Amino acid sequence: MIDYDSFGPEKVIEVYNPKVGMRGFVVIDNTALGPGKGGIRMTPSVSKEEVVRLARTMTLKCALADLPFGGAKSGIIADSNQINEKEKKEIIVAFSKALKIVCPNMYIAAPDMNMGEKEMEIFAKANGSKLSCTGKPKSMGGIPHELGSTGFGVYHATVIACDHKKIKLKESTVAIEGFGNVGYFVAKYLSEAGAKIVAVSDSHGVAHMKEGIDFETLSKVKKQTGSVVNYNKCKHLHCPDIIKIDADILITAAIPDLIKANDVDDLKFKIIVEGSNIPMSGEVEELLHKKNILVVPDFVANAGGVISSYIEYIGGTQKEMFNLVKKKIRKNTDIILKESKRKKCKPRDIALEIAKKRIYKKCNICAVQI
Ligand code: NAD
Repeated sequence: MIDYDSFGPEKVIEVYNPKVGMRGFVVIDNTALGPGKGGIRMTPSVSKEEVVRLARTMTLKCALADLPFGGAKSGIIADSNQINEKEKKEIIVAFSKALKIVCPNMYIAAPDMNMGEKEMEIFAKANGSKLSCTGKPKSMGGIPHELGSTGFGVYHATVIACDHKKIKLKESTVAIEGFGNVGYFVAKYLSEAGAKIVAVSDSHGVAHMKEGIDFETLSKVKKQTGSVVNYNKCKHLHCPDIIKIDADILITAAIPDLIKANDVDDLKFKIIVEGSNIPMSGEVEELLHKKNILVVPDFVANAGGVISSYIEYIGGTQKEMFNLVKKKIRKNTDIILKESKRKKCKPRDIALEIAKKRIYKKCNICAVQI
């Protein structure tokens, strides 16, 4: 079931090509501020409903980051571990061609789970327009997400959250869910800043080590063996158990709905920074707020990727990208956390208020319904 409201979704498109086994969705949530911007997720479980929720997150994220983009998202149902490179390419080409009706005028794609610069190159070439997606390789004039813009932004959101909670980053302990594009870079920057990483997960499970995990060694282990769980002498846990870790900070950087309402009582974290999109519902965030656990919402913390996309879109440089990500993420996180403290409400409420005001201002239909 899709909930339509005064923002959207404006378009929900299902695409299917039995010849290459491509099935997917594109959801253009709201284009009041510009063409819908949002990544392509390739997972076996992605659903229309998930894409609808993610597209709304993008609408809010772009508005909050004050970018001339609306919100959108797309999903391809496929298990990238079960298909070969040729099959993956055929699926992306078919998906891109099917999206020509909206792309790049109403929708501009980007990488998301299991999609990177290589896939964006395939997408842009099949679409016929370089503007059809961002996160392309440097050789195509792109700024690849592989540079770690999102993780860099999540790191800065974490620094600001620690200031607000009066936690010294150098003395803090951290658990990180996911060690892909986002999780890897957050782990890198946090360990460089002196935080102790005590647990990291990927799709194979959790590597837990109270004494601290060395980032460089972990990266090598992941590269050589395919999983963080092979980190020497660490304790192994199942994926969902990352939320049971005793640490000051949890960074989410993998799946949606990681934390459910009935998990809340057992959580020991002081701060949760949502590097992934929709790692919990608004209701769960409310429960955490009541428990005095500070949650930095996804569309505040993980906007680094779309800020990078904007810099690519206007033909800017890598250096400009990192500067803008740092500036915007720190400023927005700080404003939102200060205001939520002043108004005694959860950070998401403040972030939503700011983002929605910007969209209402541009969107007459929505303004009528305030
Ligand atoms: P990715 O595909 O590069 O990495 C995903 C990681 O999650 C991998 O390490 C995978 O092994 C791990 N994983 C999968 N299932 C897991 C599970 N059940 N438990 C623990 N780990 C699991 O994806 P990514 O680009 O890092 O994206 C991660 C999240 O961040 C997604 O929610 C995505 O929407 C969000 N996000 C990404 C970007 C970006 O620029 N990449 C931007 C904004 C938001």
